[in-house]
This record gives sequence, structure tokens and C-alpha cells, in this order.
Amino acid sequence: MTKLNLHQLNNEERNKILNVLERYYTTQEAKRDRIRQLRERLKILKDKGVIRSHEKPGIRVCSRCRGKLGMFFNTGAICNRCERRVCQSCCQEPRSDGGARYIICNVCSIERMFKLV
Ligand SMILES: [Zn+2]
Ligand SMILES: [Zn+2]
Repeated sequence: MTKLNLHQLNNEERNKILNVLERYYTTQEAKRDRIRQLRERLKILKDKGVIRSHEKPGIRVCSRCRGKLGMFFNTGAICNRCERRVCQSCCQEPRSDGGARYIICNVCSIERMFKLV
């Protein structure tokens, strides 16, 4: 019989186990909170990125923050994942090993994080 029986333990041991359990549940709770926060942030970012019909197609704007992009400077970058053009502050380059550039926008990076959780 290796089944854990709390009554067979002394107070110190019991407290130790309870502490571990408590810490475990607190972590789970924190994780859930983090996911909820990320979801909300993602929703806000996505809503912002919706292209509105009154916007003229010729004007280049960031697909995420709607900031205007220049023709020569701050032209933005194409996200490798969703293929939207985003400005510098709305994208990141997680891998810069000198190989092919890999750029992902903020929304995609959050979505990618979800898969890791
Ligand atoms: Zn932007
Ligand atoms: Zn993207």
C-alpha cells in the first residue's frame, strides 16, 4: 500500500504537503488569470486591426494599431504568420540568427503563446 494517507503523517509532514498543494493551486490560478488577460488583449488588438470599409485602399496603415505607414521610412513589415503589414512597434523579430528574417505581429505572437501554454 503506497496510497497517501494524511492521517498517518505527523503535523509537520501534513503541513508540508498542504503547502505544496496550495502553491500548486495558486500557480494554476495565476496561469488562468494570465490566459484571461492575454485573451482580452488579443481581442482588443484584433478589433483594432479590422479594416474599415471607408478606408481607402491606397493608404498604407499598420494592420494592428492603424498607424500610418510611410512610403520610404517606417514602411512596416509583413508578418510571416498572418501576412498583414504592421508597423515596427506592432511586430517583433523573435529570431535573429542571421538567416531568413522571421517577423511576427503582436497578435500572432500572443496566439503563438497560447499554443505553448
Ligand atoms: Zn502598428
Ligand atoms: Zn500576424
